[in-house]
Amino acid sequence: MTYDKNNIFAKIIRGEIAAGKVFEDDDVLAFHDISKAAPVHVLVIPKGEFVDFSDFVDKQDSKKVAEFFKKVANIAEILDLQKTGYRIISNIGADASQTVKHFHVHILGKKKLGALVVGDLAH
Ligand code: AMP
Repeated sequence: MTYDKNNIFAKIIRGEIAAGKVFEDDDVLAFHDISKAAPVHVLVIPKGEFVDFSDFVDKQDSKKVAEFFKKVANIAEILDLQKTGYRIISNIGADASQTVKHFHVHILGKKKLGALVVGDLAH
């Protein structure tokens, strides 16, 4: 799948759309999800052009992949989620209902999160 340079997260990275940033460095940006599914709901994205998790792992070397996930853990700490726990999710493609085609990890916390998958798993 080709990367759409005008997807909403690309616009956030370029500063064309505002976001509630919680962390930023040269490679990564984290910001509050506009439609919260939990009291804390933050999205972590790499600044490069990756459509989804598979694309990210395909195109980046292992060191960069590890660095990204270490930053996800650090951001969870910044958000004070370490003690109470949290969930990370990344939706990939149609069956996971990925809506924004720029790789992102959701960090959710500050409530009991309930079932991992909602709905009937048999169908
Ligand atoms: P996904 O369904 O995994 O692709 O998640 C995309 C997420 O991006 C959703 O949870 C949306 O609420 C969130 N989102 C969409 N537009 C924005 C925006 N402008 N700022 C922050 N979050 C957004």
